[in-house]
Amino acid sequence: MKVSPYKLSIFQRCPLRYKFQYIDFLGDKYKKEWPHFIFGRAIHKALADFFRVPLEGRTLEGLKHLLRQHWLRQDRRVFKSAEEERMWGEKALEVLEIYYHSEDMSVQPEVIEERLEVPIADFILMGRIDRVDRLPDGGHELIDYKTGTYVPPQEEFDQDLQMSIYCLGLYHQRAIFASKLTAHYLQAGEKLTTTRSKEHLDAAVGKIKEIIAQIEGTERFKPRVNPFCSWCDYLAICPARKEAELAAAGEVEDLPF
Ligand code: SF4
Repeated sequence: MKVSPYKLSIFQRCPLRYKFQYIDFLGDKYKKEWPHFIFGRAIHKALADFFRVPLEGRTLEGLKHLLRQHWLRQDRRVFKSAEEERMWGEKALEVLEIYYHSEDMSVQPEVIEERLEVPIADFILMGRIDRVDRLPDGGHELIDYKTGTYVPPQEEFDQDLQMSIYCLGLYHQRAIFASKLTAHYLQAGEKLTTTRSKEHLDAAVGKIKEIIAQIEGTERFKPRVNPFCSWCDYLAICPARKEAELAAAGEVEDLPF
């Protein structure tokens, strides 16, 4: 089976969504674009291209230009108005500007936006690594850009399966064992760093196998209403739609404005 951190997380959040997407292949019919996807994708692409530019060309204006270029390549019909698009676009530019001024823009990454596809044990690990830098001590730092708003507590990040999976994939695909794993939470302007041992990677393989066994052993893929239902592509055909919509409405009521 081919697995990625995203695919595994979909199953863990909602087995029915997993079935719609990966067993019934309904993605082509129901997959929707969302403003925050465009926001996240354009930022990732802009940063990837930016670190491919020779040092002398790495200006803030250049970074913003890359963002705009990648923004234009996406399906902008998702924005309900020019005002909404401007709001998201300005937020993306602001995020990049803060990043530009707070991080070392002169690094020469060893890996930039690399697709993972590597057989491990009895599965094929898929995914994408944002960046790997060589450290002065000869080690490697695996960097993941996060464009959502959530910043986990350190203890949660230390256990994060996704980071373990990236570390595992990098190790198997390139024989690089990252001595440092860092997530840059771009909207919050924060970063978290952690490490993994070989034992952690073995545990990650065990966890992946466990989830695969759960998937393969599932007879009825039931809906599991969760905080991400609002952005589920399959909400319209979900048998738990009413409950999912109510959950989303409840979240809205929790907002302080
Ligand atoms: S709307 Fe929620 S419960 Fe229904 S399939 Fe999507 S994620 Fe699952």
